[in-house]
Amino acid sequence: MTRTLFASGSVFDVVSGEVWGTDVVVEGNRIVAVGRGLDGDEVVDCSGSLLVPGFIDCHTHVGLTETMKDSFGLARSVRPLSAVPVLRTLLGLGITTVRDAWGADAGMRLAVERGWIEGPEILVSLRQVCTTGGIGDHWSPRVGDVDFFGDPAMPEPVFDGPVEARAVVRRMVRAGADWIKVTATGSMKLARGVHDVQLTPGEMAALVDEATRQGGRGVMVHAHGARAAEMAARAGARSVEHGTYLDEAAVGAMAEAGTWLVPTLSVSQSAPDQVPAEAAEAHRRAVKLAVDAGVPIAMGTDNPVRPHGEALREIAHLSAAGLGHVGALRAATIDAARLLRLQDDRGEIAAGKRADLVLLSGVGLDPATLESRIRGVWRGGRRVAGG
Ligand SMILES: [Zn+2]
Repeated sequence: MTRTLFASGSVFDVVSGEVWGTDVVVEGNRIVAVGRGLDGDEVVDCSGSLLVPGFIDCHTHVGLTETMKDSFGLARSVRPLSAVPVLRTLLGLGITTVRDAWGADAGMRLAVERGWIEGPEILVSLRQVCTTGGIGDHWSPRVGDVDFFGDPAMPEPVFDGPVEARAVVRRMVRAGADWIKVTATGSMKLARGVHDVQLTPGEMAALVDEATRQGGRGVMVHAHGARAAEMAARAGARSVEHGTYLDEAAVGAMAEAGTWLVPTLSVSQSAPDQVPAEAAEAHRRAVKLAVDAGVPIAMGTDNPVRPHGEALREIAHLSAAGLGHVGALRAATIDAARLLRLQDDRGEIAAGKRADLVLLSGVGLDPATLESRIRGVWRGGRRVAGG
């Protein structure tokens, strides 16, 4: 097997947070050695450059760019086909794994796996499950029930009560979901119900228990308000998404339960037309509270709230919100891998890990500079972008 030597560069060590000069050798889809004075059959000159692990976006929507602009006027094929350039864009930014927070189906995941299209590995949640009237419920006062997707690969997401909670998890898993996404509050964009708690503790507990039974799947919970986030943490949800209005009690419950926060700061910090200034400030405060309480944090953009090409700006937002450069880079690599329970496979440049690598010109760690410094991207040992 060909040994590819990444020679004479520097590496960002996610464990120590340090940058050090070293070689890296890749064979097949794995990193096999990290150290000085290594050799290989093919050489990538990394002098003056920095290798970092491939980035992981834990909350994106790769198939919604066009679908959300015109929910009902476009053909069904628009959703998967519009994801094709999005996935290529993300890969070009060094994003090698994504958790799709609804919109992508299992066929899109398969298309990447099979190499029909280029993209990050996709973990899918299909749709956002919710109780009646929640933001995943597309019922219309004018026409009643609306079949939003018209597609059996995207099952009905509405449920009420613990029994139906189990059924909705089973429907999603049957259609190929890797994660269960649930909405526990209203949406910022609709400015409605952001402080509500739209599930009972019993409903949330049933979702979590059923998802766990189904191959140890995790539940990701859309929650802007503190009480919904606190309830999700107490019920054993894996992650809280957004967390715009987290307070001391909520971050305390999350820290105690080990619940992850995926703040998606891109929503509040770069889309002033969609989010009131009060919410933007509350969101920064919430992240600071979470950091201080020891809540684990992972990177997620919630794009296409912002264009997918701006995805790496989320890492800079995390840095500015209190994680610092190293903390923000960890949130986008090893910590994101931990949230996804993939830390033994990726998220770090170490022997045995998957060769998901981003080569940056220069050796600085300021996340605000990432976008302009990408020289090359490797996914599973294969060069997929740059040079
Ligand atoms: Zn989202």
